[in-house]
Amino acid sequence: MAKAVVIGAGAVGVATAMYLQREGWTVTVVDREEPGLKGASYGNAGLIATHIVEPIALRSILPKLPRMLLDQTAPLAIRWWYLPTLMPWLVRLLRATAPAEVERISAALGSQLAHADAAYRVLIEDAEAEALIKRKGIMVVYPDRAYLDENAGYQLDLRRRNGVPFEILGDNALRSVLPALSRDYGVGVLFTTASHTVDPYLLVSALARRFAARGGVFYRTHATGFSAQGDKVTAVRTEAGDVPCDLVVVAAGIWSRPLARQLGSSVPLDTERGYHVMLEEPGIALDLPAIVGDVRFSITPMAKGIRLGGTIEFAGIDPPPNPRRHEALLGHARRVFPGLMTAKQTRWMGHRPSLPDSMPVIGPSPHYANAWFGFGHGHLGLTSAAITGRTITDMVAGRRPPFDPTPFRVDRF
Ligand SMILES: Cc1cc2nc3c(=O)[nH]c(=O)nc-3n(C[C@H](O)[C@H](O)[C@H](O)COP(=O)(O)OP(=O)(O)OC[C@H]3O[C@@H](n4cnc5c(N)ncnc54)[C@H](O)[C@@H]3O)c2cc1C
Repeated sequence: MAKAVVIGAGAVGVATAMYLQREGWTVTVVDREEPGLKGASYGNAGLIATHIVEPIALRSILPKLPRMLLDQTAPLAIRWWYLPTLMPWLVRLLRATAPAEVERISAALGSQLAHADAAYRVLIEDAEAEALIKRKGIMVVYPDRAYLDENAGYQLDLRRRNGVPFEILGDNALRSVLPALSRDYGVGVLFTTASHTVDPYLLVSALARRFAARGGVFYRTHATGFSAQGDKVTAVRTEAGDVPCDLVVVAAGIWSRPLARQLGSSVPLDTERGYHVMLEEPGIALDLPAIVGDVRFSITPMAKGIRLGGTIEFAGIDPPPNPRRHEALLGHARRVFPGLMTAKQTRWMGHRPSLPDSMPVIGPSPHYANAWFGFGHGHLGLTSAAITGRTITDMVAGRRPPFDPTPFRVDRF
């Protein structure tokens, strides 16, 4: 039977491995850690955020850039010494804020995300993991209607035009859904078709267990490169020897950049470092996830408590987390949910694998006939893991995927 090797056992790698396996491939997943444990897939906010179709930066970000360089507790921060390294990425990000680009990117992401839930359902049913998914929508809260119209009007319009359903809730309706919310917030937008998982790590683990039960192999080692003959990759080189393959998929999150480069594709992949604080005894009731629209953090009810997630920090892969950013997250959360108890907590930082146009790379290598890419999912890798796996598998099988994958190709840079 034909052998596929997937590099990376995060949400994207495991979902891709499952789809390839369903197609009849014998699949080995190479990761130096157990599935879902090492990367961003472990500690994300758990939002299956099918409503976020727009790029991360809209034009309104530009006046805020100087503050980001100075205030290391702002929702978006750049450590000044990282600025020269980040500059080419930032220039591309700014280009993506042009109105025509925003429209193009939103249409592409919207067409992809419209199929994200259906692609997940296939895997979740297969893994009997329904209990890990809650389909209650996601609420975004704002101080008042004027704030919403001024700061998120265009964003909502983009979402509506790209087929995202939502309801706007006034003060009373909002409070009946989120009783612990501060009186400073009087309007909410409920994205009815979005959902969340009560534990992203357990979700990846459940999918991984089903994959393994069907004969899939996890090979616990570090992939270092490739062996090739002509335009065919013949093996993935690892610290524990070569793994022969007829097909390879690079799905190694933020660590995909050097692997893609070895396959001749240079990608401007950088890390948007994100933070979470897990509160084991939060002391408030929370029935569905909320995103706080003005200070930009999320609060998600999970199996083992409540998870605060968010903040974007540009500082590269290696530096340790900045504890002030965890503190800032906690400070915002205590203000927005005054009854929140934060004594019992654990803290985490991870790497969103982000491309400056906010779109992942999904598709074939232009240089190797049997090499494929699935990385760069930024803020939405949990959300779009399954549709990425399905799309790659469709293309490998010569089928047309459910949306046009052309805008996601690797050689767009
Ligand atoms: C704070 C925070 C909150 C977030 N919230 C959300 C959210 O609510 N919803 C959402 O959709 N997304 C969210 N995201 C983004 C999401 O977590 C990521 O986009 C997603 O997890 C990326 O998945 P991945 O499988 O591509 O990468 P990862 O989960 O990072 O996995 C990559 C894997 O590749 C392995 N690997 C790397 N290099 C090698 C190598 N050379 N050899 C072997 N193995 C290798 C790593 O060990 C790792 O296991 C959030 C991210 C953060 C940081």
